[in-house]
Amino acid sequence: MKVAVVGGGLAGLAAALDLVDAGHAVTVHEARPTLGGAVQTLPEREGDPEPPPDNGQHIGLGCFTEYVRFLERVGEGGSFLRTRLGLPVIGEDGRVATIAPSFPALLRYGHLPLRDRLRIPLVTARCRNAQARPGETFGQLLRRLGASDAAVARFWDVFIRPALNLPADGVDADAGLFTVRTALLGPRPNSDVILPTRPLGWMHGDAAGRVLGDRVRLDQRVESLNELDADAIVVAVPPRESARLLGEPEPALEDSPIVSVHLWFDRQLLEQPLAGLLGSDAHWVFDRGALTGSRPDRGQYLTVVSSGVPELLEVRGRELVERIAAQLTERLGEAELLWSRVSREPYATVALRPGVRRPGVETARPNVARAGAWTDTGWPATMESAIRSGRRAVQHILSSTSARVTA
Ligand SMILES: Cc1cc2nc3c(=O)[nH]c(=O)nc-3n(C[C@H](O)[C@H](O)[C@H](O)COP(=O)(O)OP(=O)(O)OC[C@H]3O[C@@H](n4cnc5c(N)ncnc54)[C@H](O)[C@@H]3O)c2cc1C
Repeated sequence: MKVAVVGGGLAGLAAALDLVDAGHAVTVHEARPTLGGAVQTLPEREGDPEPPPDNGQHIGLGCFTEYVRFLERVGEGGSFLRTRLGLPVIGEDGRVATIAPSFPALLRYGHLPLRDRLRIPLVTARCRNAQARPGETFGQLLRRLGASDAAVARFWDVFIRPALNLPADGVDADAGLFTVRTALLGPRPNSDVILPTRPLGWMHGDAAGRVLGDRVRLDQRVESLNELDADAIVVAVPPRESARLLGEPEPALEDSPIVSVHLWFDRQLLEQPLAGLLGSDAHWVFDRGALTGSRPDRGQYLTVVSSGVPELLEVRGRELVERIAAQLTERLGEAELLWSRVSREPYATVALRPGVRRPGVETARPNVARAGAWTDTGWPATMESAIRSGRRAVQHILSSTSARVTA
């Protein structure tokens, strides 16, 4: 069967690889000059440190089984670091406390009063059977289960915000419950942290492109599905473009942005490979030099990520760099900035607001399937969701087209 895949992000790539493995003739149409979609390395500029920055640090979790399988399939199974969950969090006073999934570790989490710490395991355990109420945010649900305002802001938000790209008080309660149940209450390895160790573009889009070879058409934006010579189509593009191509009304989905600031300082500021910062626009800081095994000759090369803060999109480049750099040096010590680069992703993920409805794989045509991290995979809009959606789209097409043949 001839299958066209529209969109060369992780969803489209996962679909294309499955189709190739099942022996079908596949063509991937990608509008941009590179594959990988939202998982990109920025085009190199003179003066960039090695390796060039990514559009934003990506993190996986041990429960991202399809993501890990994808990396193995494209020959990049050795391009990530897998460690047990242990997230250093730096408070306003510079003190570090670590979030780890064990009772003794939680009791030592010094950014909260002891009575709040004691309730964290209880609230976590209550998440197992909790039922979200219609329209409830995860923050409201956590409070209903016994969390204090301080615990939501200084513990839960530290990892809910990067996982769901919204603060607990803005995100759908079911999405929060899913994250806690899957990552924290699932089998122990589910909570492992998975950190890419090579530039994102190289280990995702480029690597998949090598496997797919001449089945890929880059710089080829599909204007209409009618232009495709195919028996079946996987539409793996963002929500609005998907609706346009499928001739559907635009889904009522809001976007949530991610802003990344890449900073090279003349001295080491961060002792850990990654750390969260409380009460800062710099939600998470990553030592990119250390993570990629390519430290600059001097100083430290950091990537700072701010998730789900639309206000930061409006802050101009130089001002944003100064603001983030000042927040880091105030907390971590004086240093001189040698280089910087900003990456803004206004449409990084869909915003999983309470009550949000995402369409599934099925479209009005049995031989056309919808994919994308934003579709209804049951997962938050992550790399794992993208890959699962692509694989599910292939299963759908194969089962509905074989059903037609049998009928
Ligand atoms: C800065 C940032 C940080 C993130 N951090 C994390 C993280 O830490 N962990 C995590 O799991 N996820 C993270 N995500 C989310 C994750 O990257 C995405 O959910 C996932 O990569 C989306 O994949 P996708 O294939 O569904 O969509 P996309 O990657 O958006 O791919 C869609 C592709 O379709 C192409 N396209 C669009 N229209 C057309 C057309 N008409 N014709 C042809 N091609 C078209 C686009 O160019 C694009 O390449 C992050 C995202 C960003 C931006």
